[in-house]
Amino acid sequence: MAAWICPVCEGVNSGGRLCATCGERLPDGFVPRSPTRQAAPPATPTVVRAPRPPRDPSPEEIFGSNPFR
Ligand SMILES: [Zn+2]
Repeated sequence: MAAWICPVCEGVNSGGRLCATCGERLPDGFVPRSPTRQAAPPATPTVVRAPRPPRDPSPEEIFGSNPFR
């Protein structure tokens, strides 16, 4: 039997009719959802852009002029 999703706990099971997560037994004739029929994952992985590191302000930005010059 193909993988199926438990209707009680949404746990994914690789086979059989007994949920490995919650122990629920599928009723006879009940057709559980298949994980493969769920929404397909995006074709390309979502790229999480790292935020730009904060830039240290220059002395001019802090003091209006560079006192170290
Ligand atoms: Zn379950």
